Amino acid sequence: MSGFRDGFPAPDELPDRSDVVVVGGGIAGTSTLYHLARNGIDATLLERGRVGRGATEAAVGVLAPPLRQPFHETSHDRGSDGAREIWSFAMRSIEGLGTVLREMGAETEAGLDLRGGHVLAESHSQHAVELSFQALEAAGFPVHWLTADQVRERCGGRGFTGGYLLEGAGAISPGPTARCLARAAQEAGARVVEEVAVREATRDGAGLVCETDRGQVRASMIVYATHVDSRRFSALLGDEIVPIRGQGLAARVQGLEGQEGGFATHWKLNVWRQSPDGELYLGGWRHDAWDRSYWRTRPELDDRLQGDLEEWFRSTFPEARLEVTRRWSGIFGWTSDYLPLVGPLPGAPDELVISGFSGGGLPFAFECGRLLAQAVAGREPVPGGGLFNPRRFI
Ligand SMILES: Cc1cc2nc3c(=O)[nH]c(=O)nc-3n(C[C@H](O)[C@H](O)[C@H](O)COP(=O)(O)OP(=O)(O)OC[C@H]3O[C@@H](n4cnc5c(N)ncnc54)[C@H](O)[C@@H]3O)c2cc1C
Repeated sequence: MSGFRDGFPAPDELPDRSDVVVVGGGIAGTSTLYHLARNGIDATLLERGRVGRGATEAAVGVLAPPLRQPFHETSHDRGSDGAREIWSFAMRSIEGLGTVLREMGAETEAGLDLRGGHVLAESHSQHAVELSFQALEAAGFPVHWLTADQVRERCGGRGFTGGYLLEGAGAISPGPTARCLARAAQEAGARVVEEVAVREATRDGAGLVCETDRGQVRASMIVYATHVDSRRFSALLGDEIVPIRGQGLAARVQGLEGQEGGFATHWKLNVWRQSPDGELYLGGWRHDAWDRSYWRTRPELDDRLQGDLEEWFRSTFPEARLEVTRRWSGIFGWTSDYLPLVGPLPGAPDELVISGFSGGGLPFAFECGRLLAQAVAGREPVPGGGLFNPRRFI
């Protein structure tokens, strides 16, 4: 052991062999590792950098569906049962993640706040938010309509015409959450090795070989939890997971206290949360900046978008004083139906993928990890899991 880093012990040594190798230590990889270990499967996670420092660290932390589409549109596209299946999957995922963090006593470390996911309306989106709310209520989800005054009371913002609160959802600190899951997986018997990059997977007569910059690891199965970089491991993923750049900022704020849960407008185009110590996390990429966001693979700061985000915040919360402490950008892996790819790669049942969360991995990843682990263990499939099958794109 090299000692404790970021709250979990990380061994430096690569094993010669592991039944399952999980490549990538974001929320997707650590969720998968956790469930593999809990199923008694010999599993090793290989992360080229540090666990929880990829897109997961760039996320604001809103832990609520939707992925990108309002519920009534999902119902229109997939039928009401299909839409209910997707949202039930996410709600189960959030509940499962919350339970593990509570069992670990890690609520504070992971910033777990399940006091509600807020979807707020502005005048241009009021009608759509209302439709979405009505469809969610009819489908039996625990939503409550908020008038403009109630929104103002809850978040202090100007310009919101209403919104709804989804019970059971909320917010987390994403990077620490992934590290907590890695630690829980280690405690259940899994290995985590950081600073080892996987170059490719090859095959020989004895099975799969994970070729890394520090040597080989033999495996019976490999899981690619490598987010947009999954594209390098399969042509299908290259076609289906499109990189889009998003911007985020953190700020100390005065005059804005006690925001509970997570907040979103524009179906999570803009998201924010306030941590218990008062720090505000705000993110989004703006509708008028597709040309500067789409197919961008490098997480570079976009000064104009950073300015827009800050300006939006200052005009929405004019009483609050904002001191920006950090700015960043990160890459989303987008799919054409907003759902991730979770399952075996077509034609390679021993190579699995969990990627392409389309800007909303936090509320889905934990249950997606369970879905993969159940498949690896040959156990009963997770309800709704078929929705994410990569085969849907071929
Ligand atoms: C600005 C911004 C705000 C966001 N806000 C939210 C939000 O509020 N709520 C929400 O749900 N989602 C949000 N997201 C989306 C969220 O970040 C992603 O959906 C989620 O983090 C994806 O997790 P992941 O594990 O798939 O990817 P990652 O966290 O990127 O993990 C992939 C890991 O794989 C590793 N890796 C890649 N290639 C290799 C290799 N060859 N060998 C070894 N390791 C490798 C990487 O280093 C990385 O650590 C936001 C994204 C951005 C950019």
